[in-house]
Amino acid sequence: MKRAFCVFAALYDHSAPQAVNKMKLISNFKEWKFKSPPSYAELPIDENPAYNEPVAVKNAVFSKVPTEPLTGNLRLVCASEDALADLFDLDPQVAETEEFINFVAGKYLPEGGLTVSHRYGGYQFGFWADQLGDGRAHILGEYVNSKGESWQPQLKGSGETPYSRFGDGRAVLRSSVREMLASEAAHYLGVPTTRAAALVVSDDHKVWRDKSYSGAARQERAAVVARVCRAWYRLGSIEILDKRREPALMRTLVEFIIKHHFPSIDVEDEDRFVKWYTEVAHRNLDMVATWQGVGFTHGVLNTDNVSVLGVTIDYGPYGFIDHYYESYVPNTSDDMGRYAFNRQPQILLWNLEKFALALEPILSADQKDKIKEVRSTLEEYVTKKVLETYLLKLGLKEIQDGDASLVEDLLRLMQDTMADFTCTFRQLAEIDVKDLDNTTVLETKWSLNKVREAKSWGAWVDRYRARLAKENVSEEERRARMCAVNPVYVPRNWMLQDAIADAEKNDFQKVRFLLELFRKPFEVNEEAEKLGYSAQPPSWSYGLKLSCSS
Ligand code: AMP
Ligand code: MG
Repeated sequence: MKRAFCVFAALYDHSAPQAVNKMKLISNFKEWKFKSPPSYAELPIDENPAYNEPVAVKNAVFSKVPTEPLTGNLRLVCASEDALADLFDLDPQVAETEEFINFVAGKYLPEGGLTVSHRYGGYQFGFWADQLGDGRAHILGEYVNSKGESWQPQLKGSGETPYSRFGDGRAVLRSSVREMLASEAAHYLGVPTTRAAALVVSDDHKVWRDKSYSGAARQERAAVVARVCRAWYRLGSIEILDKRREPALMRTLVEFIIKHHFPSIDVEDEDRFVKWYTEVAHRNLDMVATWQGVGFTHGVLNTDNVSVLGVTIDYGPYGFIDHYYESYVPNTSDDMGRYAFNRQPQILLWNLEKFALALEPILSADQKDKIKEVRSTLEEYVTKKVLETYLLKLGLKEIQDGDASLVEDLLRLMQDTMADFTCTFRQLAEIDVKDLDNTTVLETKWSLNKVREAKSWGAWVDRYRARLAKENVSEEERRARMCAVNPVYVPRNWMLQDAIADAEKNDFQKVRFLLELFRKPFEVNEEAEKLGYSAQPPSWSYGLKLSCSS
């Protein structure tokens, strides 16, 4: 396999993928229609007319709620051409039209739409928080694309719902930019995730936010992100039905989810709930392994923020690790480090344990035993997945004795020398393995140059070489494989902050550039290099954390 190690990609390279689709793309947005009725209309929907008053919803999976459109002068911040074309069959040019901007702002609903907010609960920071639900999000409908895939657009920041509690139903520009960019970047980094189609901000619609929880609230502009997923069910969607003692509805919902979203499970299978639990668990553990591989820390891994489809959901105070330390915590509210980087697999297991308990009302004694059995295998499953992910990052194929410590020791060296997570792995791919102790070569690679300061670097390099020799990997193959899984660019908090500062002044160029850049995170990009996106992060960004205020 011959793959370029370091391709200098053109900045706006709109190559093949869309071109293939071009024939079928819809260029008149008014012609874009939802399936009517959407499949989710089969599930019970609460129709309380006082839709925007907080209420404990009963016996329903959704509430029918109209959007509360963004007011004032609207601007398109950015749109994901790939999401529009590949998921929605839309010519990306529609994003510039008034109808489309109105659609994202919650003002225009395509034919066949049915606007609902989803009811769910969740364990937040280890404690049952009761009903949460879509407090500022609306699912608009279901679009079945030319490939036969069904996708549900959801607006986030589109007004109050019965689940708003004390919130105003809105989202601000900074958090919306973060969600938009991370969703699309994660997709191209190989992380299962919800997608984001577009982001609109209002000049005039303002909301109050205390960004750093310091008592100094200020007005910020409201924005809406149009997110996209196959479906929006979370672990907490099941949990609320357990806590509220609605087992019949739980059964209906689980049967529905299996039928529509888990094609590998036979709906007639007696053990379908056991199989479903297993697949939900495996999908989520596969997902967390991809997070560990790209240094992604979700920040708020409550059970309401974990999708049953095993996709990353609800990007809030997340962070991609810069200089490596295992207990990295991006969220200012997580004092105990519950959701630290290295704890994520454990936390997913904890969440899956709660999920198994929630399912009990619809399980027979035998099925409970079977799920218990499955649960006892999950820790080993995720440990292996994470190790496999790191081995791929090192250009190795299969697990051998001593591999776990080879990986752990490298991470320890990175931590001791404050080397960068993303760049260390990438730079390991960029130089010949014979040069890993050549000072002159190492000095050209800023992050590796840090790791080599560690006393045991030489010993680690010897072990790595010996391990590569055992698998008989050619140097060309090793580097090609590693370049394909070790990104050059990830959405680092400092880069996002920088782009957000410009966006606050209505300069969306950097946001758009990042969106474009993250379509090809494994390729070196000249423009990004000039901006220092794979260089040592600036000193002001050291220890940058995010609050939940959004
Ligand atoms: P999150 O931390 O974003 O996962 O949100 C937790 C819960 O709070 C969910 O039920 C959200 O819908 C709700 N929520 C967060 N922000 C707002 C807001 N501004 N208005 C209404 N509900 C909100
Ligand atoms: Mg959430």
